[in-house]
Amino acid sequence: MIDAHTHIGRVKSWSRRLIGTVEAGLRDLLEYVESEKLEKVVLLPVAKSYLDIGEDIVKTDGVLKAYFLHPDKIIPFCAFNPEDEGLREKIREAVGNGCRGFGEHKVETRIDNEHNISLFRICGEHGLPVLIHIDNRFNPDFEGFKKVVSRVEETVFIVHGPGWWAQISSGKTEETYPKGKISEPGEAVRILKEYRNVYADISAFSGLNAISRDRDFGRRFLIEMSSKLIYGTDFPCINPEGLQFGPDRSHISMLESYNLDEDALEKITRGNILKILKPD
Ligand SMILES: [Zn+2]
Repeated sequence: MIDAHTHIGRVKSWSRRLIGTVEAGLRDLLEYVESEKLEKVVLLPVAKSYLDIGEDIVKTDGVLKAYFLHPDKIIPFCAFNPEDEGLREKIREAVGNGCRGFGEHKVETRIDNEHNISLFRICGEHGLPVLIHIDNRFNPDFEGFKKVVSRVEETVFIVHGPGWWAQISSGKTEETYPKGKISEPGEAVRILKEYRNVYADISAFSGLNAISRDRDFGRRFLIEMSSKLIYGTDFPCINPEGLQFGPDRSHISMLESYNLDEDALEKITRGNILKILKPD
């Protein structure tokens, strides 16, 4: 299995049972890889720290350092601010150093602004899939993402976050983590079906909640979309119970609980991400 969504650095706990921040370094990440017998992890930097929420995730240079030390275990991505000078050159250099994707893209501008669009195009030219987080603060909003996917068809996107996963069900909602039965599939399902270049990762609480809120729907969704879904946890983030994604096994236990056939499970936990990464 490959955990396609991990970080090192400091993250805020959003759990009411664990107050404060959690810090995980390279050694902690490798301990997690070892204990879960993972084949590899995708290590995601972010371009910027958000100290107001206690978040200080390692940047591209830190991810590359980890990769150079453990090239057999770590698949490095790069992340830069879309408004950076010399962006094209920075991405070229990161690719030269071994980066195989872009993200986690987490900026406070609208997802469909022109700087983002040109960034996504540069990534496409290099064959880098772009991993995007969508919520009310970062890369808002879902309507903007719909514009992005129709304008940038040559780039592969891996999308996640509350702003994406709330749309698994049709209709507007103000809730970050909507619960309950899904009577009609939402726009996220339509996009996964219609756009060959859009994938979704099931990491963090948003992915977990979306696929487990209605178990009948969740199972059908996993089977039908098994070529478009990607296993990831968002290690070292903290789940609502105060446990840590990854070592808490919540995502993998959820997948296992659905008794998928071997082929579907293999694609979600390994095959799909390997297919869309920039080749080694
Ligand atoms: Zn993340």
